[in-house]
Amino acid sequence: MAKAKKKRVTVEEFNLRNFIVGLCRGAYKKTPMYADARNAAKQEYFVKSKKGSDMRRVHYKCAKCGRYFRDVKGARKIAVDHLDAVVNTKTGWTGYDTFIDRLFNGRVQVLCNYKGLEDGVKSCHALKTLEERKELRETKKRLKAEGKSK
Ligand SMILES: [Zn+2]
Repeated sequence: MAKAKKKRVTVEEFNLRNFIVGLCRGAYKKTPMYADARNAAKQEYFVKSKKGSDMRRVHYKCAKCGRYFRDVKGARKIAVDHLDAVVNTKTGWTGYDTFIDRLFNGRVQVLCNYKGLEDGVKSCHALKTLEERKELRETKKRLKAEGKSK
């Protein structure tokens, strides 16, 4: 799939922590923990084609709404979600050690993940992420007011 061309970031704009965090999140997808989480939510079955052959179907069950979703390249409908947000929304960023531990050792679940609405509802992952970001924003605001922001 063609990716939208990203604007080149200047040295002044470059944020090392965001960069490292992005790399780590990508690396998590290559771990057996990630694969296990996906497999646990996986439902495989076969349907008969018009010509009578077996066609393999793989769906994933969302841990929250219980709906089933396919997961095909270019149209990802599921996400492996950390039950506890990787960056604690109550404390904000506390350091790389905590971040790495929560990312790689945190409990995860499969949630539906798509843009917009399906069956009239937003995806469970979109809603959870929205809530977590809101909480984190409020925490950052509070820490800044207390003069503790990093
Ligand atoms: Zn869902």
